[in-house]
Formats: sequence, structure tokens, C-alpha cells
Amino acid sequence: MSNNVNLEEMYGSNCFSKSVMKEKLPKTIYKEMLMVEKGEMELSKETADVVATAMKDWAISKGATHFSHWFQPLTGTTAEKHDSFIDPDSDGSIMMEFSGKELIKGEPDASSFPNGGLRDTYEARGYTAWDVSSPAFLKEDQTGITLCIPTAFFSYTGEALDKKVPLLKSMEAVNTASLKVLSALGDTTATKVTASVGPEQEYFLVDKEFFEKRPDLMLAGRTVFGAMPSKGQELSDHYFGVIKDRVASYMKELNHELWKLGISAKTQHNEVAPNQFELAPIYDSANIATDRNQLTMETMKRVANRHGMVCLLHEKPFAGVNGSGKHNNWSLATDTGINLLSPGSDPQQNTQFLVFLSAIIEAVDTYSPLLRASAASAGNDHRLGGHEAPPAVISIYLGKELTNIIEKISKGETINNKKGDKFEMGVSALPALPKDATDRNRTSPFAFTINKFEFRMVASSQSIAGPNVVLNTIVADILTNYAERLANASDVNKEVANIVKDCYTNHNRIIFDGNGYGAEWIPEAEKRGLANLKTTVDAVPEYTKDYAVKLFEKHKVLTKAELESRQNIYLEQYSQQINIEANLNVEMATRYIVPAVSEYISSLTSSVIELKSVLPKANTTGQEKLIADLSDNLAAVFTAVESLKTELAKAQDEEDLLKQATLYSKNVISCMKEVRKFVDALEVMTDRDMWPFPSYEDLLFKL
Ligand code: ADP
Ligand code: MG
Repeated sequence: MSNNVNLEEMYGSNCFSKSVMKEKLPKTIYKEMLMVEKGEMELSKETADVVATAMKDWAISKGATHFSHWFQPLTGTTAEKHDSFIDPDSDGSIMMEFSGKELIKGEPDASSFPNGGLRDTYEARGYTAWDVSSPAFLKEDQTGITLCIPTAFFSYTGEALDKKVPLLKSMEAVNTASLKVLSALGDTTATKVTASVGPEQEYFLVDKEFFEKRPDLMLAGRTVFGAMPSKGQELSDHYFGVIKDRVASYMKELNHELWKLGISAKTQHNEVAPNQFELAPIYDSANIATDRNQLTMETMKRVANRHGMVCLLHEKPFAGVNGSGKHNNWSLATDTGINLLSPGSDPQQNTQFLVFLSAIIEAVDTYSPLLRASAASAGNDHRLGGHEAPPAVISIYLGKELTNIIEKISKGETINNKKGDKFEMGVSALPALPKDATDRNRTSPFAFTINKFEFRMVASSQSIAGPNVVLNTIVADILTNYAERLANASDVNKEVANIVKDCYTNHNRIIFDGNGYGAEWIPEAEKRGLANLKTTVDAVPEYTKDYAVKLFEKHKVLTKAELESRQNIYLEQYSQQINIEANLNVEMATRYIVPAVSEYISSLTSSVIELKSVLPKANTTGQEKLIADLSDNLAAVFTAVESLKTELAKAQDEEDLLKQATLYSKNVISCMKEVRKFVDALEVMTDRDMWPFPSYEDLLFKL
């Protein structure tokens, strides 16, 4: 790749963006598309045909041979099935065809995608439908160039089978509720409110050669064994450190690939753990941000491969150093350009800000178990509460200034700004909040950062759809209540003050500015009555509790049946993940570690015997102690593996999904830890050359 790239030319060159549409479509059709996107009109067949032809011509001019409906089944990854544009003519030649019908709807065989009991396989029909709000793009890989059309995926009977359907619905819910609030507050100019999201993505890079010698990394994405090297992350010398050449050239190519797709990769840096990095894009609407984050993760892996490396997106590839997460920056913005979470210098905007802020506080406090559930996965269980990421308890960080302001308003006290003006709702501006609060709190799961909230529990490998579905829906729910209060109030400003006051009085338990990693916080949170759902198995069943079903059904985001299916899928995925890890644990201990350590013991034993044959009085206590330690630990490995196998068999036999996941979570995991304890002890006693796997030192420090 040449060093001199024309960034402006490159940016978005593989994206059928609005500007491309504007250029390629007749004016009336383009305008129609904008209205369809806004939900103001239905897409007609004629328009779809025109758009399809323009898309096809554009794609073919860039070398595309295939098109694909690109969707996000509940596996958490993306799916695609390629069809070529080729349409053979009777005279033996071909035409390149792509109709509006093919653009709008697809029918992939859905039988092997998880549906959580929603359908039987004989009713396997699933449909994909074009999501006009997310731009089509070209994907370049070894198969060639494919035009990918972002689509929603649902069943024959209309149930959502993917991550996009509920996301779009939740965006609609928060849009509707926000507009009601705005209109009650006297804003009649905004016609749309969009949830915007900027996901910061953490990842690890490891050398491919080492990766391929680790069955656990290859099959489970994380190491099930591995002793800590002499150095970990204690010096904090990796965080924001100089980027190594090999990584830098990876980042450069990654940026180029993302920019071509119109993904605004913006920030990159070394993270806390060795060989850990982060990439942040500029935010988009929640829907586009979700699609693009999926594409980003996929591109990260693909580009790493070209550089002889593997990109690990697992939440905890290595014990003993930080794992990876995703910070989900979230806010609400109007189509008139106002960020509703931005406290401004204008009284009207401040009133809005306080209402939306209160709604978020109340929503997070009322529905914190659902937010927690939205970030739950087997991988993320290793992080949350591990003193490296937020605990499993949800709390909100507002910062001193903002907390003070809300507290004062709720007590009916006046607030003075710098000029000495008294702040009254709708009359004067709030005192300006410091732009860069010095007490930026890094340990809070849900932190206010200047003009957005940052949900920091999200798992690095998961789709951000789920967390944003919950965020949008819970905020929509409280905003709906507020809109009603405001619409019925005789004095709107007074009602705003009442809303802030009620919110602070009833929900201030969720506000916590202290150290979220500290041991003192957990008992304090318990005293406040905050939920502490420690594991996935504790959190996921929240989805089908009455309050949750009521919430999601009220806002038409997910039905009870859909929630149940999702819960089943998440529990099953959890069990499957732990099952794979447990199998690896048994396999690697039995077929790699035991033979290697036995061989080492035997070589040590022979050397002692040989030595004694030459020097009968030689002091061999050191060797003998080592042999004894090795064989003691080896014996312990055998015992621990047997217990693991027993518990694993019990878990595998359990048919009830929740009971099964509980067995994995409680019994299988603790047996795995026991095996690991002895295996890791053996690693540091065994000849390095005889150890069958690359060490943590290889994986974390060599690139
Ligand atoms: P940090 O606050 O973590 O230091 P930044 O300010 O650079 O980092 O923002 C982190 C992410 O938040 C970026 O992806 C950025 O685009 C996104 N972001 C910024 N403003 C908003 C907003 N109003 N809504 C959603 N995301 C936002
Ligand atoms: Mg951040």
C-alpha cells in the first residue's frame, strides 16, 4: 500500500452513502428515499427498482460481482449469503441484474440460526428486509467484491430473529417519547430525535504463530491455562505508550479499510494490558454505529491476519492482565442539531437538558438489572467486578458540579452562575459545567462525560445492539411519563423543577461518584438496595420478568415470545461457551500437559540416577524436591480433571436451560479453576522448552 493516500478520495469509496445516492439518483427519487428513511412514507416498488439499478451500477463500476443481504442473527456476529448479479440470457451471454425486489427482501434458509424456540426447523423460513437507514457497502475479500445490503432478519410469522429489528424499534420508541417531551416543553421545530452512539473498541493482538499453538485461543478465544510472566501490566508502561512498528502498520491498514467503508476510525492507542489496543470511531446513529461496529470487528480480524497476527476480541483472553470492553457513548440529538445531553448557555436548552438527564437517571435506577443483563456474557463475567472494569452493580457518575446542581434544584435552592444571575427553570442559564472535569471517573459503569453518557460495561466481542436497545427503551419509558406530566401541567417550568426533585429524591441512590472498583462500594451498594447481578446466569433471566415484558411490549420493542427466545439463546450460548472451555481444559491437561510433565519428570529422574551412579554422594535434594513437586501437582491435575469431567457430564445432561447454565456457572467453572491452579503451577516448574504451549510472555510481549 502506498504511503501517500488521498484521504478524501479514499474516504467512503466503498460506501453507498447519501452523497453517492444524491449523485446517482434522480432528484425526486433521492428525496423520496430521504422521506422513506425518516419513516414519512413507504418505499414504492418503482423507487426500489431505480435505487437497485443505481446501486448495482455503482457496485459493478467498482468491480463487484455479487450482492448479499447482510444481517445480524442472534449469534452476535454477522451473516451473509452471496448471490452473483449474473443473469444468463438465452443466447448464452449474461446480463447483470439486480431488481428492487432483490434489494428489498431476501429469503435465506434460516434453519441453522438460533431462534430460541420461536420456530421449529420445518418452519425454517426467515426473511431479510432492507434497512434503508444504514448505507449499503462493498466488502472486499478473497471472494471478490460484494455489495452488502444491511438488512433486518425475522421469521415467517414476523418475530425478530436478529439484533437490528429491536434496535430500530427502540430508536423509534425513544424518538416518539423525546418528541413528546420536547413539544410539551415548547420545542416545535424538532421533528426527529436520534440516539447516537460512539463505541470505543478494545482488542488484543498476538502473533499468529503463537496463536496457532494454543488450542484454547483458537477454539475459545481465551487461554484456559497460562502462568503470569515475570512482568504484567504493573508498570503501566503500555498504556498510551509508543506504538510498535508492526502494530502501527496494522493500524494504518485497518484505518484505510475502515475509511473506505465510510467508518470514521478516529482515535487509536495502546491500552493498559500489554499488546492491548483501542480504536474509537466518531459517533453515528445507534443503528449505523451498530452495523459499523460489527464491520469494524470483522475488519480488525481480517487485517490482523494479513500482518501475521490475530486480533482477539474476547473479553478476557488472559488472566492476570486487564480484559477488553467496549465503551458505549450514548446521547440523544434532534434533527435541528441539538444534543439533548448538552447543558448549554441557553435557558430553554438547559430546561430540556435537566428533563432528559432526570429521565436517564430514573431509567437507569428503575431498570438497572436490564442494563446489566444487556452486557452479560460468559466472557464478560471475567471482567465485571474484577477490579479492572466496572463492577456488576450499576451506578451513575455525574460529577460534583452536576450532582450539586440537581441537589440544589431538588431542594428548591437557587443556583447562581458566574455573572451572579439566579437560575430558575426556563429563565436563566445554568452555571457552565467545567468542560474537562478534573475528576473524570474511570471506574463508573455509567458515567456522564460532558455531553453524553458512557456505558462502560459492554463486552468487547458483543454486538452493541442489545445494550442500546435497553438504553433506548428504558429512557423512552420514563420520558413517556414525563411527557404526560408536562403536557398536563399548568406551569411547565414548575413541573420541570418537580420532575428534577422527584427524580433526585427517589433515585439518588443510583448516583455514586466514588471508586467503583473499591471493595467498600459493594456493601454500600447493597445498603442502597442496588442490584448486584454477578454473573450472566444471574442477569439474563431479568429479560422475562413481568416488569421487563411489560416495558418492552409497551414500547413495541420486543414481545414476550421474543424475549423468551432471546433469554433461551443467551443461556444456551453461555453454556456452550463454558462447555467448550471445559472441554479444552480437559483436553489440554490430559493430552498435552500430562505427557510433557511426565517426560520432564522422567528426564529429571534419569539425570538424578545417572548423577548418583557417577557421584553416589552428590547432593540431589533440589532435583528430588522438584521431582516430588512436579509429581504432586501432576497427581492433583489428574484428580481435578476427574472432578471437572464429572461436573461437566452433569451439566451436559441437564435439559432445563437455566439449570444447565447454573451448573456451568457454579460447578464447572470452579472445577476448571482448580485444574488451572495446578497446571499453572506446573508451568513455572517445567523446562521452558518442554512446555507444550507458548507462554504468556510470548503472547503478551512479542510482536
Ligand atoms: P473520552 O470521553 O472517552 O475520552 P471522546 O470524547 O473522544 O473520548 O469520545 C469517545 C467516543 O464518544 C467517540 O466515539 C465519540 O465520537 C463519542 N461521542 C462524542 N460525542 C458523542 C455524542 N454526543 N453521542 C454519542 N457519542 C459521542
Ligand atoms: Mg471513553
